Amino acid sequence: MDDDFLRIDATLTDNERLIRDSTRRWVDEHVLPIIAACAREARFPLELVPAMAAMGFFGGSLNGASSVEYGLMMQELERGDSAVRSFASVQSALVMYPIHAFGSGDQRQRWLPPLRSGEAVGCFGLTEPDFGSNPGAMRTRARRTGNGEIEISGEKAWITNGSIAHLAVIWAKEGETNTVSGYLVETDRPGVRAETIHGKHALRASVTANLVLDAVRIPASNALPGAVGLKHALQCLDQARYGIGWGAIGAASACYTAAREYALTRKQFHGRPIASHQLVQAKLVEMASGLAHAQLLALHVARLKDRGEATAAHISLFKRDNVAMALATARAARDILGANGIASDYPVFRHMANLEAVSTYEGTHDIHTLILGHAITGIEAFG
Ligand SMILES: Cc1cc2nc3c(=O)[nH]c(=O)nc-3n(C[C@H](O)[C@H](O)[C@H](O)COP(=O)(O)OP(=O)(O)OC[C@H]3O[C@@H](n4cnc5c(N)ncnc54)[C@H](O)[C@@H]3O)c2cc1C
Repeated sequence: MDDDFLRIDATLTDNERLIRDSTRRWVDEHVLPIIAACAREARFPLELVPAMAAMGFFGGSLNGASSVEYGLMMQELERGDSAVRSFASVQSALVMYPIHAFGSGDQRQRWLPPLRSGEAVGCFGLTEPDFGSNPGAMRTRARRTGNGEIEISGEKAWITNGSIAHLAVIWAKEGETNTVSGYLVETDRPGVRAETIHGKHALRASVTANLVLDAVRIPASNALPGAVGLKHALQCLDQARYGIGWGAIGAASACYTAAREYALTRKQFHGRPIASHQLVQAKLVEMASGLAHAQLLALHVARLKDRGEATAAHISLFKRDNVAMALATARAARDILGANGIASDYPVFRHMANLEAVSTYEGTHDIHTLILGHAITGIEAFG
């Protein structure tokens, strides 16, 4: 394969290859034909959700997939578009995972089956208008009312799937200790308002919304019993960041493949393909090299994860470096395509714009640098 310089494919198991190939075929048949139009129309292809569920994209390891198998699914989905991978990531890592890991038996029974089948769509509300990189300073509050209910008030910003979700996992501060805890909020409860964010230049095929919670009442049984403390929200982010590390390979691979093909066919100066010029070759080499490193990193982190040895810092390195590689690859590919690099007939600009957002969400590149700096030196440099 063009995007597998080190022949890493040969190290995959038959089942891993099967999952990778069937996901890739599904993306080729169902995502690629419509995704440019979806991005133009700023529309998430909701019609694909039942088929995504049938393909097993929602739930990941909760469905018995190994970390490599789940990662390969995310890789192939993002080869289509980051919006499609983001939908699956949020559903799996940010909604199903916390319900599975921190929820009660009743909560798991009530929500995991419809989330797995795509009948219910979930979202994850951590970020607020004034608190993105520093979610621990959030203002959203949860208050026990005394009659078996909890009242939540606050605002959440930039929430993927926010205005199409049936269920929101909302993080809020409770009690005198201001402990950040997780709550399940059905979005049809009085006081929940979702406002879709329009005019995005990235992730245009993903729905992003601001959520207003105005004295929303939920039964006390909607609190996630095991999600008491910000570290549990961060644990969910680790799951999602893991999927992003793999997804970035898919987006980068789509850009590299488009740039390589273009460079071999586009002719400039004496009828020679632009791939014959050293400067263009250097760009292609950087792309192939970055991809090879990213693929090896992904496989290694997957093995650590399956052995229960992947730390938050390992996942930070994975998300940070693979997304940086993908963004650099997309920018270089856009350059190689010349004027066509900005045309929607090619996937490159769409991926490049998406990756700008992917580099920011789930911890910006620099925040992951600080997490790694802390892990290496033992000294926090956030403040
Ligand atoms: C398309 C999209 C979808 C999203 N989906 C979700 C979602 O589903 N749920 C959710 O909860 N959130 C979501 N987010 C929010 C996302 O996680 C935040 O945007 C991200 O955490 C960064 O926060 P911010 O935008 O407030 O930037 P800020 O925190 O204001 O940061 C701005 C800049 O300052 C830098 N910076 C901040 N603090 C420091 C520091 N201490 N040292 C050095 N530099 C610093 C950052 O690196 C960045 O460059 C989404 C965002 C986008 C764009």
